[in-house]
Amino acid sequence: MVTEAKRQIAFVVDLNKCMGCHTCTIACKTLWTNDKGMDHMWWMKVNTMPGRGYPKDWETMGGGYDGEGNLALGKEPGTEEYGRPMEFNYEEVFFGGNGHKAHLAPQESPGWGPNWDEDIATGEYPNSYFFYMPRLCNHCGHPACAEACPQKAIAKREEDGVVLVVDESACATCSDPLCMKGCPYKEVYRNPVRSAAQKCNGCLPRMEREVAPACVRQCPGRCIWVGFLNDAESPVYKLVKEWKVALPLHPEFGTRPHVYYVPPLASPRLDAEGNVDSSQPRIPMDYLRGLFGPEVDGAVGRLQEEIEKKRNKQDSPIMDVLIVRKWQELLGPFEKDPSEVQ
Ligand code: SF4
Repeated sequence: MVTEAKRQIAFVVDLNKCMGCHTCTIACKTLWTNDKGMDHMWWMKVNTMPGRGYPKDWETMGGGYDGEGNLALGKEPGTEEYGRPMEFNYEEVFFGGNGHKAHLAPQESPGWGPNWDEDIATGEYPNSYFFYMPRLCNHCGHPACAEACPQKAIAKREEDGVVLVVDESACATCSDPLCMKGCPYKEVYRNPVRSAAQKCNGCLPRMEREVAPACVRQCPGRCIWVGFLNDAESPVYKLVKEWKVALPLHPEFGTRPHVYYVPPLASPRLDAEGNVDSSQPRIPMDYLRGLFGPEVDGAVGRLQEEIEKKRNKQDSPIMDVLIVRKWQELLGPFEKDPSEVQ
């Protein structure tokens, strides 16, 4: 199995800029998972953090590698964690002749679903907090999904590092979806109609035509970059490797993920009188360390220093990149408009 691609595709997401609009989610859903057996698939989704996420409690389902680098299979998410698509009383509301007496409402609670705990904050008022975290397949350097699959139906491409389902037909005879148990981010889904594993393909058919992935291109918050991590001139390289202000999520899972996050800073805490209390951050550093590892202290410190430079009218190349004055700066080498490649 390929573990070192010649070039590695990577994404950086600035959690200080994501506003939870879900445009990336809908762009991806419309393009890739709008078919039969794909209702529960959200290859891109925006979780409210801290939260239980999607699928529910994915962070504690296991998978990835243990401390010795051995594959550590976890749980396969089920209906309880995905929830079911909601049925609504469309007939009654639109054709029932009940006027204003009938209102649109779900007919049965699915118990859980994407965005179920959206915007629910943690902590005590006035210092409660939450932030949004877009999540997609990490196109890992050491993908546990591919490592776990005995059929070799998932592979990492040498030319760009994209992790792909390369042989859906091999899944047909599979009674134990080890790929789903192997991925600690729970980014592999099973399509019951096609009897196949399916996952984010990195918008490969677009990237091969120099068009950026839909989540990146459609993001109105200008918060997602794409590029090759080996390109020392690219924003993704600079943010991750040079400036070290973008970090992988749960590096302890051992898969060497290639989606990196600029950690959220949040507004300052307030004391009982409503005055700014700078003695500690609103989002506890322990929580951020649990997500991004110990490197997050350095990243947060650097970001605060750079913000201060801008406030003092000094140059800050880091902030200039993070501000994204022209949205095309997000697209890396995938600069073409989709209309150019029809
Ligand atoms: Fe595989 Fe999961 Fe890594 Fe994606 S995030 S490459 S599905 S192990």
